[in-house]
Amino acid sequence: MPDCLFCKIIEGSIPSDTVYEDADVFAFKDIHPKAPVHVLVIPKKHVATLADCNDPAVLGLLMNRVRTIADDVLNLAAGYRVVINVREGGGQEVFHLHAHILGGKKLPF
Ligand code: AMP
Ligand code: ZN
Repeated sequence: MPDCLFCKIIEGSIPSDTVYEDADVFAFKDIHPKAPVHVLVIPKKHVATLADCNDPAVLGLLMNRVRTIADDVLNLAAGYRVVINVREGGGQEVFHLHAHILGGKKLPF
């Protein structure tokens, strides 16, 4: 296994505030929330960045879970933002692919 913070969160060796888990994805609260609701959704398969992921199955699954977690788990019917930071220039700090779900207030853009 790569020495990866989010892989360790998936396996449970680093604790997280888990909001959802199934066979393919894991979702937990961001430790430094940037909105009233700020959840990270990650594939259980380690992929470093979106740019490195040439697998439509992983990407399709991730986006589909984002959608269902936002509606069914986080109750963000009013709307939300999905952010994926890609590589250092895009602000990525943890190199395990993750989608941020941000919501709980009207988000300026
Ligand atoms: P990014 O900048 O897109 O790579 O986002 C990484 C996110 O992971 C940041 O928003 C951090 O606040 C968050 N983060 C880092 N460590 C943890 C942790 N142990 N538990 C939950 N979120 C974390
Ligand atoms: Zn990982």
